[in-house]
Amino acid sequence: MVIKPRIRGFICTNAHPVGCAENVRQQINYVKAQPPINIGPKRVLVIGCSTGYGLASRIVSAFGSGAQTLGVCFEKEPSEKKTGTAGWYNTAAFHQAAAEENLYHYTINGDAFSDEIKAETIAKIKEDLGQVDLVVYSLASPKRRDPETGELFSSTLKPVGQPYTTKTYDTDKDLVHDISLEPANDDEIAQTVKVMGGEDWERWIAQLDAAGVLAKGCQTTAYTYIGKKLTWPIYGHATIGKAKEDLDRAAHELRVKYKHLNLKAWVSSLKALVTQASSAIPVMPLYISLIYRVMKEEETHEGCIEQIYRLFTEGLYVEAPQIDESNRLRMDGWETNDKTQAKIEALWNQVTQDNFHELADYEGYHSDFLRLFGFGIEGVDYDADVDPQVNW
Ligand code: NAD
Repeated sequence: MVIKPRIRGFICTNAHPVGCAENVRQQINYVKAQPPINIGPKRVLVIGCSTGYGLASRIVSAFGSGAQTLGVCFEKEPSEKKTGTAGWYNTAAFHQAAAEENLYHYTINGDAFSDEIKAETIAKIKEDLGQVDLVVYSLASPKRRDPETGELFSSTLKPVGQPYTTKTYDTDKDLVHDISLEPANDDEIAQTVKVMGGEDWERWIAQLDAAGVLAKGCQTTAYTYIGKKLTWPIYGHATIGKAKEDLDRAAHELRVKYKHLNLKAWVSSLKALVTQASSAIPVMPLYISLIYRVMKEEETHEGCIEQIYRLFTEGLYVEAPQIDESNRLRMDGWETNDKTQAKIEALWNQVTQDNFHELADYEGYHSDFLRLFGFGIEGVDYDADVDPQVNW
C-alpha cells in the first residue's frame, strides 16, 4: 500500500509505519547522544506510552537509563486495508529498538482507566519486574468510563466563568479567524476533572501499592501545562486547567498517603508542543505556531524528547530539584518567562490571516503535525509500497 496523509480537521486518520519508526529512531538517537542518566530509573511503568510525552518518557527511561519498561496505551491495530494508529507503529518501533539492545519491553493495549487493564499490568509487573521504581502518568483522553459505576464522562475545552472571544488558527483550512467560546457549566467542569484530573492517577497508585509492586523510594509524575496570559482563558483558567489543578491536589495526597514508601509524587509542567492532544485544543495551534517562531529565534526550541530528557536530568533524578510554589517540577521556563511571552504577545496582537505565514512558524507547525503520523520525514520513500501490517 502507498500511504499518503489523510487529514480530517485537526487529526490525520492514517499513519505511515516506516515514517513512525524513523521518528522513534531519531528520538532514541537523540537520547543516546546525551550523557547517560546514571542514577535514573530501572523498572518503569508508562501509562500513555505510545505518543507524545509518554513515548518520550519511555525512550528516555530505556535508552538514557537502561530501564526495563512496561507501557500501557490505547491504539488501533492495522489491518490489510487500513493503517494502524501512529502510536501502534511507534510502539512496534520502540519494541524493535529495545530488543536490539536486550532491554526488557512489554506493552499492554487497552483502556488504562479500567480496572481490568490495571490488574493485567500489575500481574505483568509481578511476573516480569517484581516492582517498579517510576510510574509516569501521561494519558490524554477526551473520555473516561468510571470503573465503579460504568458511567462515561467527557471532557470539554471551554472557558470558566465568562465567554471568551479570541483568535484561533484552523490548521486544516489554513485560516486565522475569531472564535467565541461560551463558558462551561458546572457539570462540564466536573466531567473534565473526572477525565483529566487526578482520580485515575490515584487509583493506579492505590492498586499498584495494594499489590506491593511499588518499590521503596518510587517516584511518580503526571504531566501538566500551565502556560501564561495568552492561553489561560482557554487552558490554565479553563475546564482543562481545573482538571490540571486537581492533579496538584492528587500529587499532595499521594505524597502524604504513601509516606511509608517514601513515594515522590510530582506534577511536571511541560512546554506547549504539537501533539495529537494539543492540536485538538482551540487557540493552541495559533499559540504554538507563534512560540515556535520565537523560541527557534531564541534557540530554546525543544521537542518532547528534549523536554523529557531534561525532566529526568534536572528534575526527577537530581538530589534537590528546583520546584515552584505548588511543588511542581517546571520544564516550561524557556516558554513562560516574561521576555519570551512579551515577544509572543506582540506577534499575537499583530497576527491576521494575511500575515500569518510571515509572522508564525507555519512550516514548523505543519511539519511537526505531519511527523506525529510518520509523514514528511527525511529519508523515507513515501511513494514506496509498504505493508501496513506491522506487529509488536
Ligand atoms: P498524546 O495524545 O500524544 O498521548 C496520549 C497517550 O495516552 C497515548 O499514548 C495514548 O495511547 C494514551 N491513551 C489515551 N487514552 C487512553 C486510554 N483510555 N487508555 C490507555 N491509554 C490511553 O498526548 P500528549 O500531548 O503527549 O499528552 C500527555 C500528557 O502531557 C497530558 O497530560 C497532557 O496534558 C500533558 N501535556 C501536554 C502538552 C502539549 O503541549 N502537548 C504540554 C504539557 C503537558
